Order: sequence, then structure tokens, then C-alpha cells
Amino acid sequence: MHKGIAASPGISIGRAHVLSKKSASIIRRNIEEEGVEEEAKRLAAAVEKTKSDIAIIKEKVIYDIGNKEAEIFNAYLLLLDDTGFTGKAANIIRKEKVNAEYALKKVQNDYTEFFSRISDSYLKEKARDINGLVEKLLNNLEAAAEGGENVRPGKYIIIAHDLSPADTADMDKERVLGFATETGGSASHTAIVARSLEIPAVVGVSNITSAVKDGDTVILDGEKGIVVVNPSEKALEAYKQARKKLIVKARALKRLKKLDAITPDGYRILLSANIEFPEEVGAVQESNADGVGLYRTEFIYINKMNLPSEEDQFVAYKSVVEKMAPKPVTLRTLDIGGDKFLPYFKISPEQNPYLGLRAIRLSMQNPNIFKLQLRAMLRASAFGNVKIMFPMITNLEEIDEAKKVLREVMEELARKKVAFDRDVKTGVMIEVPSAAIMSDEIAKKADFFSIGTNDLIQYTLAVDRGNEAVAGYYNPMNPAVLRLIKKTIESAHKNNIKVSVCGEMAGTPELAFILAGMGVDELSVSPASVLSVKRLIRSIDFKDALAAADEVLKLSTSDKIKEYITGRLIKIIYEK
Ligand code: PEP
Ligand code: MG
Repeated sequence: MHKGIAASPGISIGRAHVLSKKSASIIRRNIEEEGVEEEAKRLAAAVEKTKSDIAIIKEKVIYDIGNKEAEIFNAYLLLLDDTGFTGKAANIIRKEKVNAEYALKKVQNDYTEFFSRISDSYLKEKARDINGLVEKLLNNLEAAAEGGENVRPGKYIIIAHDLSPADTADMDKERVLGFATETGGSASHTAIVARSLEIPAVVGVSNITSAVKDGDTVILDGEKGIVVVNPSEKALEAYKQARKKLIVKARALKRLKKLDAITPDGYRILLSANIEFPEEVGAVQESNADGVGLYRTEFIYINKMNLPSEEDQFVAYKSVVEKMAPKPVTLRTLDIGGDKFLPYFKISPEQNPYLGLRAIRLSMQNPNIFKLQLRAMLRASAFGNVKIMFPMITNLEEIDEAKKVLREVMEELARKKVAFDRDVKTGVMIEVPSAAIMSDEIAKKADFFSIGTNDLIQYTLAVDRGNEAVAGYYNPMNPAVLRLIKKTIESAHKNNIKVSVCGEMAGTPELAFILAGMGVDELSVSPASVLSVKRLIRSIDFKDALAAADEVLKLSTSDKIKEYITGRLIKIIYEK
């Protein structure tokens, strides 16, 4: 049994598909004399494929963003044309009679070693370019070797060292029964996407790629964060029973669908859903949520070969907005950076991506991309109830600047007589401590607040939300976090604006209990959590939640807070 971090609920049983660590663990394979030319051809085909992929992306980036941003692709193309680079790899295949992956890795090592001895930062950058390029070549080699992307027949559980949010967003829900990774945390975007796709997942399981062989039978317990490899008959039976119980529980929750999220003593909380993909609207409607409290629009940009056009974005937003109307849809502007990257939009390598060029900072530095997105959002606002929200605001100036750009786009659309909602509400995500501290003044410039606890916890406690090594420090019950949330709610209400919580905290029943008691107006959770949070709200009196939140805010350690909340909640629920 291997213990990790529960990242997405559900239990899966199936065959393992172990993903290689790509460039990190390329194995040397010896090739027979007669297979050597075939192997060299395989490399040549991957080089050609990579060249054409890159040429397409480059053209698109020049068109959409500009020449400067496309420079990286010129560097890649030059390297691919350079017989010194790919030619060297072909020579190694022929001389040493080895596989193309190994040959490429060897050339990569020679280049990086050479560059590492030079202190020039420009050349250091070149070493990074080579690493990026080798990744692309390895991907194309892998696809060719496996005869395409979806090679493994049937359904399987993925076992990998690491999976990015983009990898996860690309998963075929019909075939991937679940996944386990060695890295990650429960608040990472990889975990969030898994929950959206309802793919059970366990992250931060050390050495799982060595413990599991391709084809092994695996039980993945996304409820408790456990992976069992080649289980006994008894364990299999027990897990099958546990899985049945989960299905029965989910069925029971469905009965709450038509009911409001209202406490027995009459306190109504709006209960909305977070989405990453337009296809999730079905699940949101199914849960009868009060709206989309957070649409993470960056997932339209991820896993594309190029920047989505205004039209592509408009179509996606409009489809969500129309289906949800008259209920509101909160469209959050692009939140790239941190753990989410775009292949066609290069951010220079950063030491601390979460503290770097992320979210609103990236949008403000790329006004064309920002305006294009705002145009698409505003056009969609003509088809329903749209709210626009800015992520990672850290000060008053940023909100002024973002709103100025929004006004400019509005004026442009008005001049062109394009329809949009002139009263569209603009909100601010409070997810950085500086914003929470300044929330009283920020509230005067915003129509609503949405507290992003995933980041607020990470930035307040200085804990990377996706790092398994510090997962134990990532604690929503930390008193500093709770006090910042309380301050934000008070600031919003003092200024007569509504405040929602859209971080994962809102979807955890015992924490939703405290958030309700602190006075939030809305909780926005993953579609799969809507009904369980609704059940909680319908089973607690607001006066009890209020009293519990007051008590909790007096406590000064996470342990005491946790003990209090669980004790209190159990008492309330059992006394009913
Ligand atoms: C948050 O930070 O809590 C949030 C909702 O945004 P994201 O998880 O996308 O960073
Ligand atoms: Mg955030």
C-alpha cells in the first residue's frame, strides 16, 4: 500500500499505464545492425514533424502576439536545421547502435554541460532552449514509436512522476480511470482539473513509478489518498464494496438537487460552481447550482497550438452564458503562470513562477491578449448574465489599470455598435494577503469580491500549493488565513458589495460551515461538490455557524481550530 495525498475523490480499479519520465529517465536500448537505419529514419521523421509543428506555432504567434515573442521558435528551427545538433544524434545512433531517445539525450547532455561552464546569461538561455526542444522531439518520437497518442487499448490508470494541469486537461475521461503521481498537492491545478473531470487521483506518492509496472492491477483510492498495487482478492473485494457505497451516497445526494442552499433557520447562501471547460455546464445544471462562480478561462488557451482567437473565446463563453442564463457566470480573465503554461507563449524561465509573471500581471504586460479576451467576454455578456473578474490583484493601482483597459474595450465596442452589457459587474479576486489587508479600499473599486483561498493560503503561509514536500504546511485552518478571510468579508459588507469564496475550501463541508458563519454570501465549488455542500448548509443552523466562526476566530493555532470545528460540527449534526 502506498500513501499519498487524496487529490480527487472516487475509487478506481484497473491496469496501470506507467508513463516514462521522458527526458529524465531515458533508457539506452541496443539496436541490431539491420535496425540502425530504421532508427535513424525514426529520428529524422520526428525532426521533420517537430519542424512543421514549430513553424505553424511560430506563424500564429507572429500574427497574434508579435515578432519578439516568436523568437524562441526561430531558435528551435535553427537548432533543428543544425546538423551539429540533430546530425550528432544520428551519428550516435549509427555508431553506438542505440535508440534515438538515448542518442538525443546524449547530445543534450553534451550541450548543457558545455553551456553550464559558461557564465553568459544569453548562452544559459540557449541551454534552456535546447531542453525545451528535446522535450518536443521526445514527444514526437514517443508518438511515432507508439503509433499515435492513444495506443493503449481499453481503460487504464495512469502512473506518472508528474502531470501538469495541461496534461490532465487533455485526458480522455472515457479511458483514464484515475491517476497517481509522485509530485503535487491537493490544491494544485492538476488536482483541481482532476476533480472537474471527475477522475479519481492521488498525488505525492513517493516512488510510485518504480513500484508499479505497466499492466499491473492497481486500486486507486482518491478518497483516502492510497494506491494498492497488485491487491489480494480480499482487498479487491473490500474496495469494490466501498465503491458501491460511494455510488449509493451520490444517489442519495441527488435528492437535494431541486432544493435551495438554505439553513433550517432561514439563512440563504448562494451555491455556485467552478468550471474549467464549457462542457462542464451540463454537470453544473445537473447540480442545479446558482450560477458559475468561477470560470477558469485559461483552460481555453491551454493545450492549443496557438492563441485562441477572439471568435473561439466568444463561442466558448457564449455557450456557457446562454446555457446558464438568467443565472450569472463569472468569467475570470486569464490566469497563466504559476503552474500553468502555454507552449506558444513563452515566459522567461522563473525561479519562483508563483511569485512571477502570472495572471493580471501577464495580461497587463500583453494588452493585445488582454483586450482580445475582454472583447470576447463583453460580446458574450449580450447573451446572459456575465460578471468579469480579475485574478491576483495585489494593489489598488492594478484594479484601476485593469478597469481602464476594460473601459477602453467597451468604448471600442460601443463605437462599432457591437452589443454588450454596459452594466457588466467587475470583481476582484482576493487571493494575495496584500489585497486582503487593503480590502476595505479595494472594495470601493469593485462590484464584488471572490476570495481565492487556494492562493491566499499559499501566499499567506509561504507554502507552494503544488509541492508534496510541504503539503503538511498547507493549512486552510491556519488562524492567519481565517483572519484575512474575515477581514475581507467585513470590508466587502462595509462597502455594500457581495463576497464569494471560490477556492477549494468552500467545497470542504467543515470549512464551508465556518465560511458560512463568517458571513460569506456565496460559495463556489466544483460541480461534484455542490450537493454535499448543500447538504451541510441544509443541516446546520446559521446561528450555530455564526457562533462557531466567532469562537474559531479567537483561537490562535491551527490544531485548536481543527479540533474545535470537527468537535462542534459532529455535535451539531448528531444532535439533530
Ligand atoms: C484560488 O486561488 O483559490 C482560485 C480559486 O483560483 P485558482 O485555484 O485558479 O488559482
Ligand atoms: Mg488563484
